[in-house]
Amino acid sequence: MVLVAENLTKIQSTIQTACDKSKRDQNEVTIIGVTKYVTIERTEEAIQATIENLGENRLEGFQEKYNHFKDRVKWHFIGTLQSRKVKDVIDKVDFIHSLDRKSLAKEIDKRSARPIDCFIQVNVSGEQSKHGIALDDVESFTSSLRSYSNIRVVGLMTMAPHTDDDEVIRQTFQSLREKRDQIRNKNEPHAPCSFLSMGMSNDYGIAIEEGATHIRIGSKLVGSKTSEV
Ligand SMILES: *Cc1c(COP(=O)(O)O)cnc(C)c1O
Repeated sequence: MVLVAENLTKIQSTIQTACDKSKRDQNEVTIIGVTKYVTIERTEEAIQATIENLGENRLEGFQEKYNHFKDRVKWHFIGTLQSRKVKDVIDKVDFIHSLDRKSLAKEIDKRSARPIDCFIQVNVSGEQSKHGIALDDVESFTSSLRSYSNIRVVGLMTMAPHTDDDEVIRQTFQSLREKRDQIRNKNEPHAPCSFLSMGMSNDYGIAIEEGATHIRIGSKLVGSKTSEV
């Protein structure tokens, strides 16, 4: 298996190229190392290679990694979160990327002792199989969260559709950015909405060109069980 540090060097160079192309500063881009496929040892290697943000998509994986690494990194919960599991992660997470329904917001608000930085998950493409709020409903959904004092909408999150067509992917990310701009411009105190969580191993270059502030990289960074990078 290739060292995480070598993978990271390649990723950083792609980030630099995308930032140059779009005249952005690469300090605006945070890499979230998605460790759901890999062991504690491989995760340790990522931290040694200077990864400061980790993402897990399932409660079990999150707890395993969290219990080991605790506050050595910032924790991002990136997967679908069942309301009844909120209590198990809420004191540990720094960010939740998958806020996609009112009942979940209500549970987070109730269970947390502090405001939680949340991304609203958006289903830009409208694919039936995908979680997330429809693009047209994101604005009203965001406004409807204002009474929950423990929810801070820091940004929007999406996953691009499964396609080889870069233009379709780019359009998805562009739509998310436009929606982010709209919500940010409303200056609602509970929704600064300055961040864009978009881009994974196969599309993070495009995502950065379109404004991503948080890219979620698993297989190309740490490898995966099925395809070791
Ligand atoms: C697994 C996962 C990723 C990372 O996927 P890769 O393609 O391996 O980079 C990113 N975001 C979410 C929500 C995931 O579940």
